[in-house]
Amino acid sequence: MPEHIAIYPGSFDPPTLGHLDLMQRAAKMFHKVIVAVANNEQKQALFTVQERVEMLQEMVGELANVEVRHFQGLTVEFAVQNKAVSLLRGLRAMSDFEYELSLAINNRKLRPEVDTVCLMPSEPYLFLSSRQVKEIASLGGQISHYVTPSVEQRIRAKFNAKK
Ligand code: ADP
Repeated sequence: MPEHIAIYPGSFDPPTLGHLDLMQRAAKMFHKVIVAVANNEQKQALFTVQERVEMLQEMVGELANVEVRHFQGLTVEFAVQNKAVSLLRGLRAMSDFEYELSLAINNRKLRPEVDTVCLMPSEPYLFLSSRQVKEIASLGGQISHYVTPSVEQRIRAKFNAKK
């Protein structure tokens, strides 16, 4: 069997324990997983791409077959350049389904050789999103159940700097 490489693309602004849950699952399924931080200038982000890569690198430290990169442009093209045949995405509540389905079908039209694989996180992370983590943190709420201590510190520093 050839080496099976998966790309896990996303904004990861910031990376959460839900993202980590998915990476841990994928690390057991694929020979190699490349976490790919999208450098999308249209989306206003709290963290720079470099900061997001650093946070993810800290998080995947013990997963030997997971690496972190950033990319610009079409996700499927980045996948092909990296010899990946799977695109990993997370499915949380039903609300993710329609969006992920349309993304998967459109990506398949662009590059039929790359297939999307969706994984479901553990229950505590089913309703967790980066957006909500930022909202809660900006209002001074607890986020320690949702992100690693190091990511929590960085989020707090961002919001303190904005005050
Ligand atoms: P994007 O802007 O591409 O949606 P995100 O960083 O929000 O980037 O998410 C990247 C991927 O991770 C998506 O497939 C999303 O569904 C998945 N994801 C986000 N949060 C979670 C979570 N709590 N559990 C499982 N998957 C998640």
